Amino acid sequence: MKNISTVHDCYGCGVCATVCAHKAINIGLNSEGFYEPSVPDLSACTDCGLCREVCAYLHDELSQQNPVIGSYAVWSRDSRVRRKCSSGGVGFELGKLLLSKGYKVCGVRYNAELSRAEHYVAATKEELVASIGSKYIQSYTVDGFRAIDRKQCYLVTGTPCQIDSFRRYARRFRMEDRFVFMDFFCHGVPSMWLWKKYLQEVEKTTGKVCYASWRNKTTGWHDSWSMGIGGAEEKVNWHDSYHLLIRGKKTSYASRFSRGDSFFTLFLSDTCLGRACYEHCKYKLACSAADIRIGDLWGSAYAEDEDGVSAVLTFTPKGEELLKSCDCERVAHPLEVVVEGQMESSPRKPPIRGRLLSLLRNENVPIAQAIRVYKQYRYLKLACQGLRHPGKMARKVMSKLKR
Ligand SMILES: Cc1cc2nc3c(=O)[nH]c(=O)nc-3n(C[C@H](O)[C@H](O)[C@H](O)COP(=O)(O)OP(=O)(O)OC[C@H]3O[C@@H](n4cnc5c(N)ncnc54)[C@H](O)[C@@H]3O)c2cc1C
Repeated sequence: MKNISTVHDCYGCGVCATVCAHKAINIGLNSEGFYEPSVPDLSACTDCGLCREVCAYLHDELSQQNPVIGSYAVWSRDSRVRRKCSSGGVGFELGKLLLSKGYKVCGVRYNAELSRAEHYVAATKEELVASIGSKYIQSYTVDGFRAIDRKQCYLVTGTPCQIDSFRRYARRFRMEDRFVFMDFFCHGVPSMWLWKKYLQEVEKTTGKVCYASWRNKTTGWHDSWSMGIGGAEEKVNWHDSYHLLIRGKKTSYASRFSRGDSFFTLFLSDTCLGRACYEHCKYKLACSAADIRIGDLWGSAYAEDEDGVSAVLTFTPKGEELLKSCDCERVAHPLEVVVEGQMESSPRKPPIRGRLLSLLRNENVPIAQAIRVYKQYRYLKLACQGLRHPGKMARKVMSKLKR
């Protein structure tokens, strides 16, 4: 059959399900905790092949790969926007600009009821606010992508692989001209088993989580890997997230990477990313199918800046013009300055990944056990560094950790 049913461990971008007129494709979590398509009833499939045509995972070439036109450091002129956004707030400012031009924005919000990040369509500035801030989990795209009216104009934002597939879809239905595509430098997405396990532990303190944010600049942008979580009785809105850390009520929870937060410890260690993030990512540095790419400018040029600076690359005249018109300060830098600190290639899949994912999936295991396994692995890796032959002992411990 010409459908997607044989594809596993892909990007989980959901564009195949979006394009299927017969709704034959389901997007659900696989055994490792990543979104993946399936075709539950093969008789619903008409073999049109569209799902494979729009799938970026099945194509070696990007749907579009232009050379970089401009590379910049950018930040919002509105200090409140800059403070709330993950880096300099350029993503929000571009969305605001396009809304004022009659576009809609398809971005990502956190759905606390379903405990997931999801794409949605914002038609007003107020609706756009929920897209502020990176949600460092894989987003469920299907409802948001399906809500896009093919006759209207949109800014679509997402991971580079989501955008690559979506451009194929837009091209196939001759709507590319009405779309602007924005992606980001992408580290990879962690397993949803990590997120669910983390919530399970946090909810012991807060009750049902009704709000979550992943970044907070209270102690500065360079220390902003910080979870802020509001429980059932905590009335938090997106404008209020900043104060969660200092309120310290029983119904709220705050924890930073620099103080050992377990979500960030595992996410940033690259030990539980998607298979495709290790083995199939074509999108590092300046490889992008978008009009514009954003991220954190982590390099030495802004090492002293604690308000947040976005790294921005433009690939098309459309992206370049929009960046010039949005309400942001913009400083041109050579490409190597803007991409300094970004991953140049995909991380290697670590041998303990399978073990970690099964611990995270098991409801009866505390997250501390997974952290312990990761720390033992890190210790062993450090101990073996520089040794040509890691030795019998190291091999023995490693094989124990994998089990
Ligand atoms: C999983 C993930 C990995 C990332 N890895 C890197 C990295 O390695 N290096 C780097 O410099 N930057 C990375 N970023 C991007 C970075 O965190 C900021 O989003 C970026 O600096 C833009 O910040 P901002 O201040 O302009 O706006 P923000 O307000 O932070 O903009 C966030 C934008 O990202 C979109 N978004 C949020 N969560 C998701 C999601 N889960 N999936 C898809 N889209 C989402 C929103 O719709 C919005 O458009 C990553 C983001 C995510 C979600």
